[in-house]
Amino acid sequence: MADYNPYENMLHVLDKAAEKLGMTKNEYEFVRYPERELTVSLPIVMDDGHVEVFSGYRVQHSTARGAAKGGIRFHPASDENEVRALAAWMSIKNAIGNIPYGGAKGGIKVDPKKLSERELQRLTRTYVRRIAPFIGTDKDVPAPDVNTNAQIMAWIADEYSAITGEWTPGVVTGKPIVAGGSLGRNEATGRGLTYTLETWCEKKGLAMKDLTLAVQGFGNVGSVGSLLMHRAGVKVIAIGDIDGSLYNPNGIDVEKAYVYANSHGRSLKGYEEEGATFIPNEELLKLPVDVLFMAALENQLHAGTMEGVKAKVILEGANGPTTEEADDYFEAKGIEVLPDVMSNVGGVVGSYYEWVQNKTGLYWTEEEYNARLKDNMRRSYEDVDAIRQQYHVTYRLAAYMLALKRIVEAQNTRGFLG
Ligand code: GLU
Repeated sequence: MADYNPYENMLHVLDKAAEKLGMTKNEYEFVRYPERELTVSLPIVMDDGHVEVFSGYRVQHSTARGAAKGGIRFHPASDENEVRALAAWMSIKNAIGNIPYGGAKGGIKVDPKKLSERELQRLTRTYVRRIAPFIGTDKDVPAPDVNTNAQIMAWIADEYSAITGEWTPGVVTGKPIVAGGSLGRNEATGRGLTYTLETWCEKKGLAMKDLTLAVQGFGNVGSVGSLLMHRAGVKVIAIGDIDGSLYNPNGIDVEKAYVYANSHGRSLKGYEEEGATFIPNEELLKLPVDVLFMAALENQLHAGTMEGVKAKVILEGANGPTTEEADDYFEAKGIEVLPDVMSNVGGVVGSYYEWVQNKTGLYWTEEEYNARLKDNMRRSYEDVDAIRQQYHVTYRLAAYMLALKRIVEAQNTRGFLG
């Protein structure tokens, strides 16, 4: 799948959404192009004294609905095409969550596990210096994504504040609590996904305890999400991470696995529990579960993997795990896909709440935060579902239709094209 271009994939779905809505090319053509793209080079003095130059990206896809907003990932496969697609997905996601943001994404092509903590900090700070003129509390607000975390967000806030000369926590979200973060943000994406699955259950007349689930990916989203789903009664029978897939048909003790992974470099390697074995990663996607929870990377369910899928519903925690071809296949097979742009919106909605607290200086309790998050997740789901039923389309197409309508309306009202 070397020729897979996630941005092209996104454009095809967007075009289909526009066609369903009866929108002319003139009305939405601008949404097909990112507003601004930056590529930066990042020379870093490594701990042994040699200089290594990394590539970094920041794409601002849209500012129609507000400041550009989206995470930063550190990954060896990160490149312009990937970041461009991720930025556009953020515009769509933020429109569905109905929060006052456009969409952006950033990336550095690096395997952070190969860097020392000091190297990682230097790399992060250099990246901030390069993109500083283009970010800001009301301009473009980064956040965590794959392989980035609260500590890295603290460095970003610190470096940016050193440049501007004033403490500016609202320039980035997903920060540690002591550095202007919010209670609840770290769990927001996984918690939001749990609410999405609960809503799906209610619509199907099912209970969470009726469901079996396999999760691909055990980073922040996969681990918090499957832990909360497990607590809600879901039987998690498989957890996959890069080192292999843990399988226990009797149900994994997710509490135990969660603690283990967090104290073993986020890996389940060496984890033991009665009835559990390790199976090859390809097997996980083919397990006869009710829910396949995709929480790793994009382009996982494609022509080469889709036929083995036996799940009733696919819950997308990662951004872009399903290609258009696989989407069509699942639709024909009656497998429902709860798409990323609707289901994992909890992360950025949670970021919005953090940003609001930074702007007002008034900090919320975790209960307040979670209650608002739940309301938003439910509303986002219902808004998408209304379109899905009205037009008899998939959740994904309905989600794109809703987002496109909202983005175009904002552009037109502002007179962007005038
Ligand atoms: N990286 C997360 C996402 O893809 C969160 C982005 C944010 O909070 O800005 O939705």
